[in-house]
Amino acid sequence: MSIKKEIELPEEILLSLHLAEDEVIKEMKRTLAVKCFKERKLSIGQSAEFAEMTEEDFIKYLGSQNISIFNMDDLDELKKDLGNCSICKGNLEIGNINHIADLDNFIIIIKNVPAFVCKQCGEYYLEHNVALEIEKIIDNYRENTAEVIIINYFDVVV
Ligand SMILES: [Zn+2]
Repeated sequence: MSIKKEIELPEEILLSLHLAEDEVIKEMKRTLAVKCFKERKLSIGQSAEFAEMTEEDFIKYLGSQNISIFNMDDLDELKKDLGNCSICKGNLEIGNINHIADLDNFIIIIKNVPAFVCKQCGEYYLEHNVALEIEKIIDNYRENTAEVIIINYFDVVV
């Protein structure tokens, strides 16, 4: 069931935005859906419905807004859409892994990185935003003099 309401939009604002009425409404719904998802008032499924997007598109949209789904607790709904390991076709689940990067002059171990982990072979896949955070972390240590660095993902990524 849906509820219909009229919304008044000042014409000059629409003109300054260079957006059609439909686009403004669409944008309003998406923005509000993202806000509700961030505040965990709505689940990912509900937020996607609110934004009039598929769950997959909504997750991509969150990614484009630099919002990581891993900041949220209610990941259960997502689990069914995780897919399978590209190596062994095993089931993936959400977990934490230790990411080890072997660089020219040092080795960095980042503990407790959220990832999709294959139950069967242990291979893991990083969400785009997480991979970006890891790149950032590694960049921050480029000038260091230690040979081995061990850090906790959640200590550096809020
Ligand atoms: Zn696997």
